[in-house]
Amino acid sequence: MNKYVESVLKDVKAKNANEPEFLQAVDEVLTTLDPVIKANPQYEANAILERMVEPERVIMFRVPWVDDKGIVRVNRGYRIQMNSAIGPYKGGLRFDPSVNLSVLKFLAFEQVFKNSLTTLPMGGGKGGSDFNPKQSPHTPGKRCSDAEVMRFCQSFMTELYRHIGPDTDVPAGDMNVGGREIGYMFGQYKRLANEWTGVLTGKGLSFGGSLIRPEATGYGDVYFAENMLAKRGETFEGKVCVISGAGNVASYAAEKLIQLGAKVVTFSDRSGAIYIPAGMTQEQVQEVMYLKTVKRGELSELKWKGAKFAKGVNSWQLADKIDAAFPCARQNELNGKDAEYLLKHGCTLVGEGANMPSTPDAIAAFVKAKIMYSPGKASNAGGVATSGLEMSQNSERLSWTREEVDAKLKGIMKAIHDNAWEAAAKYGKKGNYVVGANIAGFTKVADAMVAQGVC
Ligand code: NAP
Repeated sequence: MNKYVESVLKDVKAKNANEPEFLQAVDEVLTTLDPVIKANPQYEANAILERMVEPERVIMFRVPWVDDKGIVRVNRGYRIQMNSAIGPYKGGLRFDPSVNLSVLKFLAFEQVFKNSLTTLPMGGGKGGSDFNPKQSPHTPGKRCSDAEVMRFCQSFMTELYRHIGPDTDVPAGDMNVGGREIGYMFGQYKRLANEWTGVLTGKGLSFGGSLIRPEATGYGDVYFAENMLAKRGETFEGKVCVISGAGNVASYAAEKLIQLGAKVVTFSDRSGAIYIPAGMTQEQVQEVMYLKTVKRGELSELKWKGAKFAKGVNSWQLADKIDAAFPCARQNELNGKDAEYLLKHGCTLVGEGANMPSTPDAIAAFVKAKIMYSPGKASNAGGVATSGLEMSQNSERLSWTREEVDAKLKGIMKAIHDNAWEAAAKYGKKGNYVVGANIAGFTKVADAMVAQGVC
């Protein structure tokens, strides 16, 4: 490994020893940058790597709120403003008990490269809270009520609003932050700032949201995979696909795959995985969307003919024949053993919809097997790209049709694919999308940082 890269990695590890997810993400990117660092001595001369691994700003704050029983609860809120070299900070908000500094720094770091890959002018950020909307603080087994979620969101925004703005930082949704939460936060921002601006994306259609934004990450993941298949002269027709997750990304990935003639045989959630060998229908995908976004229930409740529910497991080791896998739930959800199973059962394509869902040993297995493997920062960039399109529509006070946004999304996913493909080929790693995405995402940000001087 290049000495400069090695010394930065050593330093990051020493300084952030208690942040395993952040270290994993930094390691995964930096270890692929050797050739580009060697060819561009100005990056070392300008301490680009040292600056990229240090957030421009970390904001941590108290989020006090009152539950339905009148008891005061306190959560922790965060916003990581990682890098603004190529545009305002942009990245989602996640509400989950697993949220901590390490998880958000890893997500913000990934977001910098992802946003760069979209070809749009967006820097990288991420935020959220350890608030758990899926567990009421006073009634075990019950979710927070809408009123509790609203009070939490209002308190969260009461601090966050000082740090964001349409030209500064534009958050969006992420895990457990969907249309309901974005609506409550947007309402509170508007009230505090006394202005109507596109400060959040993922908004409702009646107040500045973009058509296709809910679908964009899942659809984009599949569009990216279509591009990978096209390189080998293949399509999705008849391909057996396993998907993890049952949320926003997973359900729209499934919808698009079925439209393209694929057979989607699994979903998963915190209760376990559902396996339907004959393949799901679009009606069943709709049922899952309703279950998750309206009923807010679990996959274990589904009573589908011919389906098997496996408690407490993920989607990977259920089917006998698998052509493609789409991890769309959470980080580190697909390990080396899962990768081995997938490869042994015929899998030749892995399209990450989630952020960093494959562990390092799983990635190594996919790269070694030379299958079509796309890292999340490239293949799940459709969501943030469409958020960028929502920002443009808000600035111009207009809204594009569904077809227009979908066509732009398709074009962006092809551009991301082609950039990653070309960068990999240029540095002698043809077909390696990990290297290609990292290098293509990195160089644009690094060049902007060099041009802007030491800041
Ligand atoms: P979501 O709607 O909240 O869905 C997440 C899914 O993952 C749910 O089905 C959830 O199960 C499952 N899950 C979460 N933690 C789990 C655990 N510990 N064990 C088992 N299952 C678990 O979130 P999403 O928006 O689809 O995001 C999924 C992934 O995509 C995340 O990595 C996110 O960062 C990434 N991503 C999202 C977007 C976007 O536009 N939404 C864009 C780029 C990347 P339950 O339903 O039981 O909670």
